[in-house]
Amino acid sequence: MSFSPPAPVTEDGFRRRVSYLRVSLTDRCTLRCRYCMPGSGMPFFHTDDLLSTAELKRIIVIFRGLGVVKIRLTGGEPLLRRDVDEILFHIYTLGVADVSMTTNGLLLAERGEALKNAGLRRVNVSLDTFRPDRFQSITGAKALDKVLNGIEWALAAGLSPVKINMVVMRGWNEDEIPEFVRFAEERPVEVRFLELMPTRNTYEGTASVGQEAFVSVEEIRREVERHAVLGDEEPIQGVARSYPIRGGRGKIGFVSPVSNHFCGTCNRVRLTSTGRVKTCLHGESSADLKTALRAGASDGDLAQLVRDALFQKPEEHFIRPTHFVSPHLQMSQVGG
Ligand code: SAM
Ligand code: SF4
Repeated sequence: MSFSPPAPVTEDGFRRRVSYLRVSLTDRCTLRCRYCMPGSGMPFFHTDDLLSTAELKRIIVIFRGLGVVKIRLTGGEPLLRRDVDEILFHIYTLGVADVSMTTNGLLLAERGEALKNAGLRRVNVSLDTFRPDRFQSITGAKALDKVLNGIEWALAAGLSPVKINMVVMRGWNEDEIPEFVRFAEERPVEVRFLELMPTRNTYEGTASVGQEAFVSVEEIRREVERHAVLGDEEPIQGVARSYPIRGGRGKIGFVSPVSNHFCGTCNRVRLTSTGRVKTCLHGESSADLKTALRAGASDGDLAQLVRDALFQKPEEHFIRPTHFVSPHLQMSQVGG
């Protein structure tokens, strides 16, 4: 196995170092979470428009060459792609120390061993409720047991950290915050409470969770602290502010993209499953690598396209609790 030398540093137009690539492997999904996709009628990309395994591998090498040291696979549901093990192993052989995945967990117990063998060491599993009926009304599927099995599999297999992403929504699941705190007290997991973000669906009113369901991290934190004593804040590694639970096994994290955005230190760039580079989750612009690649662009040309896109990365997004609008974001196409 060959490991390449340390990658150079690439900065955006505001001198932020861009080192974290989030790759959406597909826009398809086994669930229809209300805050992410419409329950029906979602137009999916044509298979020919998705990057092939070889194209994905080539683009990942280019990002690696530009200084990416951390890669997360996401989607849609990343485990729907049959080549996910091959892509993981490819990333591993490039010497990317931090490789992770965000998944809805449905296929994790079934596919996990192969993922681990391919180099996956940590995972984020999305889970918004412990109640089967609520799970079905939030996601459209009777599949809570599968997700819980996936989490238990990840813990038993020694993946670390195992993080649970809970999107807190007023009127849907905010009353379960104490249960999620208890889950993290009893297991070595980090439960991360996420603020609901606006998406194109919510903007157009086709999804049934919008601004009325928004709960700020400030409010979530007050509720958490009624049920647990948090230790000192850990050094920030990503977008979450994380705290150990005193006397517990796990941790609590808070992610506040709306009430207190982290754009000033954003080190992220996103690749969609159709090969577009998005430099801001809520931004309109994207660069089309796939068309260039299919037209015969060299690696140098593709790297320059990425550099140009990064130079245009916006300084910040303008989503706020009072400006809950993101007309360009189709979450399942970009990967969160
Ligand atoms: N399907 C995988 C999953 O659900 O984990 C990966 C893709 S999903 C788009 C990535 C993350 O984005 C999930 O944790 C999901 O809960 C979160 N997400 C999706 N829509 C969101 C929204 N409107 N606001 C906040 N988080 C959202
Ligand atoms: Fe699918 Fe993830 Fe979106 Fe839910 S959040 S619909 S699991 S892509």
